Amino acid sequence: MSCQPTAIPPANNVDIPALRERYRQERSIRINSKGQEQYVRPKDDFADVYEGDPHMPTLPREPISEDLEVAILGGGWAGVLAGYALAKQGVKGFRNIDHAGDFGGVWYWNRYPGLSCDNDAYCYLPLLEEMNFMPTKKFTDGFEIRNYCQSIARKFGLYDNALFHTLITSMRWDESIKRYRLTTDRGDDIRARFVIMANGLLNIPKLPGIPGIHEFKGKMFHTARWEYDYTGGTQENPVLDKLADKRVAIIGTGATSVQAVPFLGKYAKELYVLQRTASTVDERKNTPTDPEWVKTLQSGWQRERQLNFHRFAMELPKAGETDLICDIWTEINRNLSVGFNENGWPTSPEEYMAKREVMDYRVMERLRHRVESIVQDKDAAEILKPWYRYLCKRPASNDEYYPTFNLPGVKVIDVSKTKGVERMTEKGFVANGVEYEVDCVIFASGFEVSSDLDRRWGFDIFEGREGKSIYDLWATEYRTLHGMMTHYFPNLFFTGFIQGGFASSTTEIFKLHGLHSAWVIAEAQKRGIITLEPSLAAQNKYVDFIRATAIDMSSFVRECTPSYFNNEGQEIVNNKGEKKFRSYTGEPYGPGFYAFEAMLQEWRDRGDMEGLDLGHA
Ligand code: NDP
Repeated sequence: MSCQPTAIPPANNVDIPALRERYRQERSIRINSKGQEQYVRPKDDFADVYEGDPHMPTLPREPISEDLEVAILGGGWAGVLAGYALAKQGVKGFRNIDHAGDFGGVWYWNRYPGLSCDNDAYCYLPLLEEMNFMPTKKFTDGFEIRNYCQSIARKFGLYDNALFHTLITSMRWDESIKRYRLTTDRGDDIRARFVIMANGLLNIPKLPGIPGIHEFKGKMFHTARWEYDYTGGTQENPVLDKLADKRVAIIGTGATSVQAVPFLGKYAKELYVLQRTASTVDERKNTPTDPEWVKTLQSGWQRERQLNFHRFAMELPKAGETDLICDIWTEINRNLSVGFNENGWPTSPEEYMAKREVMDYRVMERLRHRVESIVQDKDAAEILKPWYRYLCKRPASNDEYYPTFNLPGVKVIDVSKTKGVERMTEKGFVANGVEYEVDCVIFASGFEVSSDLDRRWGFDIFEGREGKSIYDLWATEYRTLHGMMTHYFPNLFFTGFIQGGFASSTTEIFKLHGLHSAWVIAEAQKRGIITLEPSLAAQNKYVDFIRATAIDMSSFVRECTPSYFNNEGQEIVNNKGEKKFRSYTGEPYGPGFYAFEAMLQEWRDRGDMEGLDLGHA
């Protein structure tokens, strides 16, 4: 399939200074001095938002007391890929521990109507060639992803030891036995030699701290705990027929809401979409997997595609390279590369960034025109237009979202001037001074992504050697070796977006982290190593190195509308007194994800575990 540049307004029709000023104004309307504190943690009255499981009953079991080689904390993609890597290395005696009832992570918990992946499934789903699996379409459904994730766990034996419906409550290094002691909400005492933190990024839902949220007497739930008993339908067949006589409000218009709103609009008697910041929503152009295309694929095709996606979405394509992905994630570079191929490629990062900025304004202008070409009510169309730079928010694609606002029972309400929904009452909500009565409020209000670590990780005690708490050590900055290990915490591995490479598919990051930690653990077992921990000197050197190479996104995110991408627009001050944005991308390695992957490969190939203090039995 040929992939063309998009039809965007000419550069001289786009008034960049005026748009820049408009973006600045829209941002200042939304900046909330409460920052992360504006959100309510899923505790106390709202504990069931996090602790309960609407998908599977929690069965009683006896507490476990055991010595374990490796505890993998999590059974989502990060946990499954870590388990896969350990199995491949022949490591025995490991368990995935998860508070969900099965593998899948976000894809276990999230089952809201319309859930699907906004990324190219041929890139996002890992190990397709090894698993001999093909997704049914480019943007595949949530249940297919969950099933696929579980099939990997099944194939590599991860079910044999998995401990589900088990929530870690504390973790402490015990020097006397040189293991981590893990306590859980099931009364377990697990003594793990190694721990892999595979707790994901979108694991803890958060609620907006709307005044009066406790007063509402109707139905409330978070999108990550969808209640089909109330709405009718199932994830696989989301006919929400029980909403036919219900007035529903959905709070939030991020990627989740964009997917759920078309179903709510179709089935609810009335739907109020309460919007603080508009999403960027492009057409989806979803296509079923073409069996003829599949027949043409050669061994290694997935890696090639992932590299192509990464270059077009996050770095720079090669001269003459074709965009295989051809969606909103690759649009800017696709459009730019046409000009580069004709007139020469940029000779400096500054030249590229300057050209990219102009293209960004033109693409966003196209997307705003798209809203008014679909939404018939002019006021609604104005509300739904996004006023920020591309990638200040996660872009979405959906063919039914904007048309939903043409349905008679659907109304979008702008709550930006009051920095969110003004108030909730016993019967509904107040927006812009008007009370609306509703039967049900659905929170599409996201997750703890860039808040303080104890909020994100969910357990209060996380201690390494000498009783050092990770929450104190990392209160203002990360300090790691390779983004995966840290001083004072022997035998502990982190997965995710900390001081490493940032890939266009999160599963690529998790796969690499699983592979690396499994290799270190397997080597430790072979060599009789009981503890390994980054030396302070090696860690300091790595932190200096990563910061010298990291792309400082501060100036970009500083101008972005608030969100979890930029810690709700709030800077934090590190212990040198420097103001920094806590970006969820966590100081990514400047030369890019695949260069980071190569750097780790070289480290492993050298075989000397450079930078780690090794303790033998
Ligand atoms: P987000 O954090 O992206 O969105 C939360 C929404 O709630 C925002 O619109 C926010 O407004 C709004 N909100 C928060 N507080 C209030 C308030 N007081 N009043 C009104 N509105 C409020 O969460 P999502 O669940 O949409 O998405 C989270 C992440 O999940 C995505 O970024 C993505 O990484 C992932 N995801 C991935 C998908 C995929 O395809 N792979 C699909 C869906 C989600 P504001 O923007 O103003 O803060």
